[in-house]
Amino acid sequence: MGCPGAGKGTQSARLKETFGLTHISTGDMLRSEMAAGSALGKQVSALINQGSLVPDELMISMLEKVISQAQKGVILDGFPRTVAQAQALDTMMQRLERQINAVVMIDLPESEVIKRLSMRRLCKKCAKPAATSTQPACECGGELYVRADDAPASVKHRLEVYRAQTLPVKEYYQNSGKYVEINGNQTPDQVFEDIKNVLKKVK
Ligand code: AMP
Repeated sequence: MGCPGAGKGTQSARLKETFGLTHISTGDMLRSEMAAGSALGKQVSALINQGSLVPDELMISMLEKVISQAQKGVILDGFPRTVAQAQALDTMMQRLERQINAVVMIDLPESEVIKRLSMRRLCKKCAKPAATSTQPACECGGELYVRADDAPASVKHRLEVYRAQTLPVKEYYQNSGKYVEINGNQTPDQVFEDIKNVLKKVK
């Protein structure tokens, strides 16, 4: 978990590489649908570009399909984003006889979010952010682009949505014994070290 720009995608990619887990980013899945011009992509594009959430029912059915197909452990990046999604995830986990091992919140002050997102460029091919603001292309050779929802008006709305709809999810997990907070205002390497230390203790 974490607000927009907290580093969820960056850290999930590292966890995937290091531990061989399946990375499920609901945002990446929705952007792929948009890029492919599918019916679903067309249905959600206006909501995503303005920074609003996609309806819960749609997200829950999308997620159930990918979780049930995953052979190994899964990193959920960008889900659950509402309490209804968190409740549906619990039901889904029970049905699939799987469990949530840890809920990792990457904490970042809003002033830092705005700074990060105003500079962010992502790769069209591997979805990773560019490491520097001047490089002409991604390390993988992919073309870099700016997400439409990283425009200042959308970022402002995404933060409002985060406060209103996603912060209650933090309360949902806070007393579960699985919830941990990581300081996101550090280098990606330092954040990754902190996450690995937390995961070492996970049962
Ligand atoms: P992200 O890449 O995680 O920042 O997600 C980008 C956008 O995709 C969000 O602002 C939402 O419009 C949509 N989205 C991603 N995950 C969810 C979710 N779990 N529930 C609803 N909308 C989502």
